[in-house]
Amino acid sequence: MQYPEPIAKLIESYMKLPGIGNKTATRLAFYTIDMNEGDVTNFAKNLISARRDLHYCSICGNITDEEPCEICRDTTRSQDMILVVEQPKDVMSMERMNDYHGLYHVLHGVLSPIEGKGPDDINIANLIKRLQKTPAKEVIIATNATPEGEATAMYISRLIKPAGIKVTRLAHGLSVGSDIEYADEMTLLKAVEGRQEI
Ligand SMILES: [Zn+2]
Repeated sequence: MQYPEPIAKLIESYMKLPGIGNKTATRLAFYTIDMNEGDVTNFAKNLISARRDLHYCSICGNITDEEPCEICRDTTRSQDMILVVEQPKDVMSMERMNDYHGLYHVLHGVLSPIEGKGPDDINIANLIKRLQKTPAKEVIIATNATPEGEATAMYISRLIKPAGIKVTRLAHGLSVGSDIEYADEMTLLKAVEGRQEI
């Protein structure tokens, strides 16, 4: 026996999410049909709105529903300091620390020869363009402490250092292989304070 089409389709949709297999998708689908109608309508609306209204800021690459994003528009922030991270989630981690008041640049990934990811596959060209337009005093590279994160930091440093920009890397209060996303605020704060020139 097969499920009626509406629930089969719902299961199919849930299975498109990362880490969700048939079993979990089926459980979620049955849960959804038992939810009250208002909640389900809201859920559907939120899905559509998140997909439709959000985009990447044309300046920094962070996720936003405005253009440019709130951080890029904020003139009270230090305009001559750019902190480079891998993912939009990392911007949120840094902001939670409440101690960094410069700008950001989101790479959307790191260089990874194994995955065939080169400089053109991540948001590096925009960083260079940005620096040519408005030179920064310091660029802090806060890619994760993984081999790919390190290689990406070195690559960017070699590109922009000749322009006379101070390039620093977060201190290794962050343990090797660790993600910015999961670091607590104190660890991040120490890593930023102890950053070193590369
Ligand atoms: Zn922005």
